[in-house]
This record gives sequence, C-alpha cells and structure tokens, in this order.
Amino acid sequence: MAFGTYKEVVSARATDKAIQKVAQDGGIVTALLTYALEENIIEGAVVAGNTEDPWKPEPTIAMTADEIIAAAGTKYTFSPNALAFKQAVRQYGIEKLGTVGTPCQVQGIRKMQSYPFATRFVADKIKLLIGIFCMENFPRASLQTFIEGKLNSQFELTEKMDIGKGKFWIETNEETKGLALKETHGYEQAGCNICQDYVAELADVSTGSVGSPDGWSTVFSRTDAGADIFAAAVEAGVIETKPMDDVKPGLGLLEKLEAGKISKGKDECARRAGMGLPTPW
Ligand code: FAD
Ligand code: SF4
Repeated sequence: MAFGTYKEVVSARATDKAIQKVAQDGGIVTALLTYALEENIIEGAVVAGNTEDPWKPEPTIAMTADEIIAAAGTKYTFSPNALAFKQAVRQYGIEKLGTVGTPCQVQGIRKMQSYPFATRFVADKIKLLIGIFCMENFPRASLQTFIEGKLNSQFELTEKMDIGKGKFWIETNEETKGLALKETHGYEQAGCNICQDYVAELADVSTGSVGSPDGWSTVFSRTDAGADIFAAAVEAGVIETKPMDDVKPGLGLLEKLEAGKISKGKDECARRAGMGLPTPW
C-alpha cells in the first residue's frame, strides 16, 4: 500500500504567523510539538537544535514553546535525536516525551520501543513521534563542499536550505540559488541509497512538503495517538487543513517519488547483495 498505514492525509499549515515565519514548510512539526507541550500531552521534546557552528544541528531537549520554535527548519544533515532521550528522561525527569526524526530514525525508535535493550524506561516515554519525509541526507562536509564548490556561495551565510522542483536551494540574505539535484548525487550518505521509507511509515504523524503547495505540508495521521493529537490541534485552531484532493500537486507526485525511492533502494540492495555485502532487507 502506498504511504504505509494511515488514517487520514490532509494538506495543512500552522496558523501562528511566528511559526510560519521560521518553519521549513507548513510548520506542522513545530505547531504539533508546541500544542502538545501546552496541553501537557508531552512535558518536553527532543528536536534538532542549532549550535554555534552553522548547519551543525545537535539533539536538543526543549522544555518550552520558544525552545521548540528556535529549532524549527530543516537541517539536511544528521541530528541523532535519539541520543538525547536518556538525558531527557533521567536528568530532566520528562515522563512524556515528544520528538521528530527522519524515517530511518523513526524505525530505530520503534525498534527501541519493541526491544528496549538498554532503553528500558526511556523508549516507552515517547508519547508523540513525528516523522519527516526524507529522500536523502548529507554529511555536513558534503553540504559545505557543493554549496561552496558548485553554488559558489558561502556555507556560513546560508540561512535556509530546501529541496524542491528538482533542485537543492539555498537562501542567503542576498540571494536564492538552486543546484540541479543530479549535481548533488554522490554527496548523500551511502546508507540513503538503500533506504526504502520515504514517508516515515512508523511515525504517529508524518509530514513533508511534497504534495502540498508552498508554505503548506502534507500530513499523514497514522496511529491513534497521532490522529488524536492532530485532530485536537486542528480543533483548537492551531493548524488549518485542506483536503488533499483540493491542492496541487497532490498525492500523485508523492506516490511517484515514493515509488522511485523504493525501487532505487531495492536495486541498490540487490547490487550490494550481488557483491556479497550485507544489506538490512
Ligand atoms: P518545522 O516546523 O520547520 O520543524 C522541523 C523540525 O524538524 C524541527 O523540530 C527540527 O528540529 C527537526 N529537524 C530538522 N532537521 C532535522 C534532522 N536532520 N533530523 C531530525 N530532525 C530534524 N520533505 C519532503 O517533502 N520531501 C523530501 O524529499 C524531504 N527530504 C528531507 C530530507 C532531510 C534530510 C530532512 C531532515 C527533511 C526532509 N524533508 C523532506 C522534510 C522537510 O524538509 C521538512 O522537515 C518537513 O516538511 C517538516 O516541515 P515543518 O515546516 O512541518 O517543520
Ligand atoms: Fe534516513 Fe533514509 Fe533519509 Fe537516509 S534517506 S536519512 S536512511 S530516512
């Protein structure tokens, strides 16, 4: 089944202008985490926080809405958020935790919950797991290499990165530049080439830009917990929605990209298996 198991899919965005301003797309991750915090559904969240080094995110324990908002926006490199779970629970005393991750991270977190070796009394504290769509991810040094080498721009002046319409985009306070995605191939992390989950199928709620217009997000409510929190946020006016059938480009594009990722991942697995290399699937 395309997109994994879900109860509902809609196009949506945060209604709060402050969130819209800093969010990557429709601000769904930030709106849901801040709503859940304010409603005491969670007591804190692990997010990909900014550090003094440009584009070097760090798993960050956010205890306030402002701290969640400060971590908004996509970093196209690794933020191993699960690393901070134990600290969140043991040192911060968080009993109800929210977090966000790429599909592979969501898979890892579900595995922690199913087989909690070394994560007993930690993994079960996660009450809201938000997944973000992901086609590929880059080591930070790769980002710097193609931004400076191919886009002829300064890495540390980059204010926003985005992928869309076949290009990798960067924004500085002076200009917006796009690099054809085929030019970034080879820079992604090797593991991404065998990955076959585009839409974070195991999350409570998963979201990404593809399928929805600019400034909006495509959102899948998957689990009972995820669907309840998303519905309550919509009911409270924190998030506004439109039916997917009413927006362009719609689910057709998402399905096409998902199928492409799965088939590419399977081909690469077969290629590696043919060389006697181990693959997870
Ligand atoms: P916001 O409200 O801006 O919040 C984003 C949240 O994600 C913040 O809490 C932030 O801390 C967290 N975060 C940011 N970067 C990371 C990271 N690297 N790891 C873990 N958490 C992080 N969407 C698509 O539709 N198609 C794609 O192909 C696609 N590829 C992606 C590749 C990568 C590597 C990443 C990280 C994201 C990708 N996305 C893709 C998702 C998209 O860029 C947005 O993150 C998503 O739409 C959420 O937007 P938002 O406005 O709701 O989030
Ligand atoms: Fe993880 Fe897959 Fe995204 Fe790579 S493509 S970061 S393996 S979810």
